[in-house]
Amino acid sequence: MKNNLFSTSMVVLPIISAVQPIWAQKVSNKPLNIVCIFTDDHAFQTISAYGHPISKLAPTPNIDRLAGNGMLFTQSFVENSISAPSRATLLTGLYSHQHGQTRLGCCLNPQKQWFTELLQKKGYVTSVFGKWHLNVEPKGFDHYDILFDQGEYYNPKFRRPDTNGEYIKEKGYATTLITDHAIEWLEKNISDEKPFCVLVNHKAPHRNWMPDFPNMHLFEDVDFPEPETLFDDYTTRGPQMKTQELTIDRHMGYAFDFKVRELKNEPTLQYIRDSWLMAMAEMDSEQRATWEAIYDKKNEEFLKNPPVGKDLLRWKYQRYVKEYCRTIRSVDEQVGRLLDYLEEKGVLDNTVIVYTSDQGFLLGEHGLYDKRFMYEESFRTPLIISCPSLVKKHSVCKELVQNIDLAPTFLSLAGVEVPKEMSGRSLLPLFKNGKAENWRNELYYHFYDYPAVGSVRKHDGIRTKRYKLIHWHGEGSGNDEAIDFWELYDLKKDVMEVNNVYDNPKYVKVREALTVQLEKLRKDVGVTEKTFYIKIHENEKTKLYNDSL
Ligand code: CA
Repeated sequence: MKNNLFSTSMVVLPIISAVQPIWAQKVSNKPLNIVCIFTDDHAFQTISAYGHPISKLAPTPNIDRLAGNGMLFTQSFVENSISAPSRATLLTGLYSHQHGQTRLGCCLNPQKQWFTELLQKKGYVTSVFGKWHLNVEPKGFDHYDILFDQGEYYNPKFRRPDTNGEYIKEKGYATTLITDHAIEWLEKNISDEKPFCVLVNHKAPHRNWMPDFPNMHLFEDVDFPEPETLFDDYTTRGPQMKTQELTIDRHMGYAFDFKVRELKNEPTLQYIRDSWLMAMAEMDSEQRATWEAIYDKKNEEFLKNPPVGKDLLRWKYQRYVKEYCRTIRSVDEQVGRLLDYLEEKGVLDNTVIVYTSDQGFLLGEHGLYDKRFMYEESFRTPLIISCPSLVKKHSVCKELVQNIDLAPTFLSLAGVEVPKEMSGRSLLPLFKNGKAENWRNELYYHFYDYPAVGSVRKHDGIRTKRYKLIHWHGEGSGNDEAIDFWELYDLKKDVMEVNNVYDNPKYVKVREALTVQLEKLRKDVGVTEKTFYIKIHENEKTKLYNDSL
């Protein structure tokens, strides 16, 4: 029957839309439930199914279990590597310039259609839990239980439809609480009457990587492998790498990021200091005392004899990656808990589970932390799709897919026709063996959030299976000058992206072809002169918002 299902659904369904309900061809005749686990800033390097050396020392057996039950996408990317735009893309199936949320703070057009609204019309009961962080109210959800702002790791505040707009503080750890609420809702909503769609949006592993108490001691004796580019000197790269403020060495805070009580004369940026005080203020006195006792002990040796120079960067890298992996441990445990729950309820075989993140994350590559850049570790994002009745187990897809494809995928899984306005494509045709006829050969990327935290300049670009062309553009702010700089990487010969060959005579033909392709892509996706070079400053938010309606 499984083969019949594949052959029928793959051949008959158009690539863009799946008009016929898939479940009509299934033994049970039941519609598929949908669970989307959406983490914040999850680096594929820390999911062991992807096989990166870091993940071998900090495995994720439960996320791997999902991969074992489905398809691992190794070439999954975002269209704009930053949180709010990516959240809006997940909901709308649109590029940032189409839904309006080009930057962290602005400006999602609330009139755009969300896939959840269409699922409701199809008879789904829908909900979202955890991180929201959009200026627009949830719509197309029968229930929501969302975090205040970025959400805190300890004792975060949640808002539900019945709290009258108030955020209520809850005692506990964010990753666990979000899963608690999702399971509580499922307990009331798993039924034979209606299929469900639930979005589980974790705060983890977002900065500042505060682990849950039971996981604080993990990896103490582990030395994580350093990326080859930890000491990258940015030779061949442009001025944007000299002015960005996302290096582990110079831009992380001792207290906020490394959990060392503030050092004398520490040049911490004010927002980092404020964020740390806010995070600690949410703890109760007992939690705080436990935290301080644990970290005082951890930090003894460092404070007695702090390393210097390259050794200091090495120490920072280890501390950063360990804290990051500790928060991932909670994510993995809670993914396992949710899977166990669905299995116990007997719905696992009929539920599509998507595991993905709003973008990837740099774990010391190029000496950096954070996202934003079109460099692989930030641009790429994990994607695993599991559904025993639909997706081949232990399968791998190496095609270029992007977060614009998720909304169309959810719709086609539900048998809803994908609206023509959506820019992405349903991934269903890839489910059989990871390949599909006429699949895309290139991706478009555009980062707009400048001037802003991190000082990463605006850039757009094209990525094919082999090459990446990036154009850094736009006027400068503060001491930054206007920029018009190009980078070209041959990803086959230069996996680390340290050798910009844009001016290399051997690559003239490649460069010219890619430039034409990029121009065409811009035109195809509708990045006009206005949205491309638009100046987005605080006082222009309203204007831009109105323009985008
Ligand atoms: Ca994020």
